[in-house]
Amino acid sequence: MRRLTNVNPASLVESVERLTADGTRAAVVGGGTDLLGMIKDDLVPTEVLVNLKGLTERGSLDLVETEPVGIRIGGLVTLAQLSTHPLVTAQYRGLAEAAGSAATPQIRNVGTVAGNICQRPWCWYFRQNFPCYKHGGNRCFSRVGENEFNAIFGGGPSYIVHPSDTAPALITLGANFRIVGPSGERVISASDFFTLPRTDVSRENILEPNEVLANIYVPSTPGLRSTYAKVLDREAWTHAVTSVALALEMDGNVVSRASIVLGGVAPIPWPLKAVEELLAGQRITESLAAEAGRLAVDGAQPLSKNGYKVTLTENLVRNTLQSLANEV
Ligand SMILES: Cc1cc2nc3c(=O)[nH]c(=O)nc-3n(C[C@H](O)[C@H](O)[C@H](O)COP(=O)(O)OP(=O)(O)OC[C@H]3O[C@@H](n4cnc5c(N)ncnc54)[C@H](O)[C@@H]3O)c2cc1C
Repeated sequence: MRRLTNVNPASLVESVERLTADGTRAAVVGGGTDLLGMIKDDLVPTEVLVNLKGLTERGSLDLVETEPVGIRIGGLVTLAQLSTHPLVTAQYRGLAEAAGSAATPQIRNVGTVAGNICQRPWCWYFRQNFPCYKHGGNRCFSRVGENEFNAIFGGGPSYIVHPSDTAPALITLGANFRIVGPSGERVISASDFFTLPRTDVSRENILEPNEVLANIYVPSTPGLRSTYAKVLDREAWTHAVTSVALALEMDGNVVSRASIVLGGVAPIPWPLKAVEELLAGQRITESLAAEAGRLAVDGAQPLSKNGYKVTLTENLVRNTLQSLANEV
């Protein structure tokens, strides 16, 4: 068993200094529901836990607060808080549903939203410590192996799927991430945060190892309706086999703008631009929802054992669209 050092920085600046000083030996820990399991299974070299829950400047990091044009969510806000917070449930139902659909009540009580967005892949081969691309190797075992839960879009050279439930919802809501690092802060759109393996197979997002995801800004859009729907391989407590986050801006019963992003089917939350264009300016009918479902899976490239995800995703998109439209 490796020896771990827990450090409790007082500020974000101090956290970044510690991450910079200890390099790959150090990692940020929020709730630890993902990181501590990876350490136990020897999947990551972490020896120094930079514990954000010890920050004395927590304030904005563990609160959901109103902003002049929306809300600001602290990276340490738990999934349980996010799923029930009145500011979130009132205006951003899709985000509340996504947070409330993740994992188990116990994990949601300690797991943070930043940890949810930054969690590592749950591909069977990565978690069993196979020498795959994610562990610095030179192959993806799922490409020809047990690939029931792997990518049908955007794969190659690695076929992991992005596991976060909150990330697709945040993208549909136009969220921005505040990142703190050694040269100060930067704000980046949630839709630009995630990285395809063909760009850099070693990582899932653009964060440098010494950067911290501090806050999430979600703009307010009057009349926006959103939802999140997820298909599991068992009744509860697990990641999405496929999921869809949907946000519709309506003008009466006509869609003025649609935003739609899939989860669990690609190495990043997978945006459906062609479907968004199809829906803009239209009234959602049964036949339009069916066409949207078909278009959603256009270009899918299933592996040997995950063709079933194509049909599931098509049906999920069609049904979710239809039921959100019926509420208008
Ligand atoms: C049994 C089980 C079921 C699960 N099911 C789901 C599910 O259905 N849906 C889902 O989305 N997730 C699921 N998870 C994954 C995950 O543990 C939780 O979603 C949780 O939100 C992770 O948050 P955390 O604060 O515990 O992360 P941690 O374990 O603390 O961190 C996770 C990763 O993010 C990094 N990190 C944490 N905070 C920051 C930050 N502020 N800035 C930069 N990097 C950071 C850490 O270094 C680490 O690499 C599941 C986990 C388990 C064990």
